[in-house]
Amino acid sequence: MEQRVDTIIIGSGICGLSSAHFLSKQTNDFLVLEASDKVGGIIQTENNSDFICENGPNTVLLNNDAIIELIKDCKLWESIKLPSESSNKNRYVLHENELELIPTSFKKFIRSPLLSFKSKLRILFEPFISKHKENTTVYNFVVKRFGKDFHDQFIEPFITGIYAGDTKKMSAKHSLKILWNLEQSHGSVLRGLFKQKRKGNQMGSFNLPKGLSQMIHKIAEPIKDRIHLNVAVEKVEKNEFGYKVSTKSGTFLSKKIICAVPAYSLINLFTDEQLNNELKNVRYTPVDVFHFSFKRDHIKNQAPGFGVLTKPSDQKNYLGILFSSRTFDHVAPQDSELFTVLVGGERQKELCELPKEQLETIVLRELKQLICQQGEVTFKKHFRWKRGIPQYDMNQETLSTVIKGFEAQNTGLFILGNFYEGISVSDCILKAKNIANKLS
Ligand SMILES: Cc1cc2nc3c(=O)[nH]c(=O)nc-3n(C[C@H](O)[C@H](O)[C@H](O)COP(=O)(O)OP(=O)(O)OC[C@H]3O[C@@H](n4cnc5c(N)ncnc54)[C@H](O)[C@@H]3O)c2cc1C
Repeated sequence: MEQRVDTIIIGSGICGLSSAHFLSKQTNDFLVLEASDKVGGIIQTENNSDFICENGPNTVLLNNDAIIELIKDCKLWESIKLPSESSNKNRYVLHENELELIPTSFKKFIRSPLLSFKSKLRILFEPFISKHKENTTVYNFVVKRFGKDFHDQFIEPFITGIYAGDTKKMSAKHSLKILWNLEQSHGSVLRGLFKQKRKGNQMGSFNLPKGLSQMIHKIAEPIKDRIHLNVAVEKVEKNEFGYKVSTKSGTFLSKKIICAVPAYSLINLFTDEQLNNELKNVRYTPVDVFHFSFKRDHIKNQAPGFGVLTKPSDQKNYLGILFSSRTFDHVAPQDSELFTVLVGGERQKELCELPKEQLETIVLRELKQLICQQGEVTFKKHFRWKRGIPQYDMNQETLSTVIKGFEAQNTGLFILGNFYEGISVSDCILKAKNIANKLS
């Protein structure tokens, strides 16, 4: 027997769940179909032994109205946890095996040992460099505008922090969207930044008392009757009703469809050759996430801050370390510190093939060296994302065009996900709100 419903949302990651949330303000006539046994997708908090460990995102940006609306709707606004003031001010890159602050003001930049005098001078010429006429890689964009040293010391680690990606493959227009748009609209990134700063643009970020899964559970709670877990969608076909959605546990008919699954799952749902050819080109890079805790007294390096990112030239076996409990003190007991180490990405893919125990030994040794830790590990956890972070390569423009074309040919069908037009949780929520608005 086929079940009929107005809208089907496929996938209950933040894209699918927030679509359901915004849609629920207009109608109850929808269902969310989720392949796994839980909601949230990549947003996965593990609460154990007094530690709050984020296996996926650690912080969510408060950079658009949709995320703020969602948090307020979930009645979580009053309880959001903001990062400590010191973590907002202090972010590090590794420099000669030590923590070096990323400068946050012109004065600090001038004094920073991360760039030579010549490389600093080179940056001042940026406003005189012509803007790009067409898209290019992140590497080419940054080297042309600011020089190679700036790329190596600042942008490469920054890209590592968000995409764990390879700047020589990634699209500047899509991965460095803000810098690209500043260049395109002001003719220079620096000129654009200067004007923007005077406007006083500010962005904050947050976590929650029980971790980010708390937001997931709050979104899911009021619509739990409309979420079907362990239902993997196998095929979506057009028919006279609208769409026929096939799963092992039955067939659903709907007038509208929101597909909120990763590109590698979406590829199986439709038979459109052009769409599938583009989806095949979306690469996902693996990431291993380690959580380690030590007694506070055993750690010599007490540098306050958000964390540290590495560059290829540092030759470390990790991409970055988040100082999780220095950023959010509620994630570990008072006498302990929690560190989250990220490994893999495009730079160190092969490490994500190693057995967990072997990789853990390597990573722990390097973590202990950096923070001068002398006692035993008191708590540890590990999570492996085999297909972790989608890469915004040079195919992004074509991918977006093909998806828009496919949506235009299929009335009432929308494709949503972190693999195009915004990877962050807050981007995903904004895209979901826009789609829900289109359905009203
Ligand atoms: C290690 C890591 C750290 C990150 N850190 C941050 C951060 O600090 N801040 C930030 O903003 N972002 C961060 N991100 C990115 C962000 O978490 C993701 O972009 C976002 O959560 C993706 O949400 P999504 O809904 O697009 O996809 P997903 O979370 O992947 O959800 C897709 C859902 O679809 C389901 N599904 C798949 N196929 C089917 C099918 N056939 N039928 C039904 N259901 C199906 C899956 O089971 C899953 O539940 C991080 C990502 C990773 C991996």
